[in-house]
Amino acid sequence: MLDILIVGSGPAGLSAAVYAKRAGLNVLVAEKVYFGTGQVAESNRVDNYLGISGINGYELGEKFRTHAEQLGVEFVNKEALNFIRDNDIWKVEFDNGDVLKTKTVIYATGAIHRHLNIAGESEYAGKGVSYCATCDGAFFKGKVTAVIGGGNTALDDALYLSDISSKVYLIHRRDEFRGSYDTVKKLKEKENVEMIMNSKLQEITGGEIVTGITLEDGRSISVDGVFIAVGMVPVTEAVKSVVTLDDNGYIIAGENGKTSAKGFFAAGDVRTKELRQIITAVSDGANAAVQAENYVRK
Ligand code: NAP
Repeated sequence: MLDILIVGSGPAGLSAAVYAKRAGLNVLVAEKVYFGTGQVAESNRVDNYLGISGINGYELGEKFRTHAEQLGVEFVNKEALNFIRDNDIWKVEFDNGDVLKTKTVIYATGAIHRHLNIAGESEYAGKGVSYCATCDGAFFKGKVTAVIGGGNTALDDALYLSDISSKVYLIHRRDEFRGSYDTVKKLKEKENVEMIMNSKLQEITGGEIVTGITLEDGRSISVDGVFIAVGMVPVTEAVKSVVTLDDNGYIIAGENGKTSAKGFFAAGDVRTKELRQIITAVSDGANAAVQAENYVRK
């Protein structure tokens, strides 16, 4: 019987694992993707993690992982699908049929990229359509790209691609950006970045690979790559009947990670919170682990 099953191996899950292991608890981390470190791996450069400035996201994720491994944290590579509470114990069923029993769960599955659900999007995924500029940007050296969205991710992506692509269209549905003023200023100074405001994408077109986009106003633009950065969707499908979610699908939980279900804690981007950053996910993991420890010891 486990004391804590941590679901998810991003910054929140790994931080929880470090705290739980150091507290002498019997802890296991279940991850859907082998050696996954979550969204952090997608950041080309992380500049706002205290004490470690200017680090590549993948490298930072690996440091988190190594820290947990050095303490002896164990990982399993399978997806948790069902959570059943039975006599104060959680029975967790996995995609491969395995069942684990645990006193508590720390759910730290994060969020995934939102899709536009337009024609051509799924057809050209991996053939010119990408959700991660830092992962796929290098394929578009000297080519024309479009970034869709107006938040910090879209702005950062456009800035990153402006150093790789010959031309970057930044297409946003409103007349002002949601993301940082500072990045918008930098983008305006870039000669190869063209901002198209008040515009929505209607279709992504091409043959074998992407060759263009069509906007809702009928304009067609030739591009080689489309980077979609329109926000994230929490990974909560497996727990929607277990804990209370907010209207956007995030698990309702405060800083202490406590959810509507006893012994079930939420940490990181998957919970309701104001600021979704690596540092707040790490903080969440620590908080949830301490709460889970208190619960187990009681
Ligand atoms: P976000 O802040 O939620 O922005 C999503 C953007 O996509 C918004 O501009 C939104 O438009 C647009 N959008 C949403 N659905 C759309 C649709 N169907 N069609 C067209 N546009 C659509 O998401 P994010 O940029 O991924 O950022 C997530 C969080 O991470 C934020 O808190 C952000 O500050 C943070 N972050 C921080 C950094 C950094 O500090 N460097 C970097 C990346 C992300 P509207 O504006 O009209 O709603």
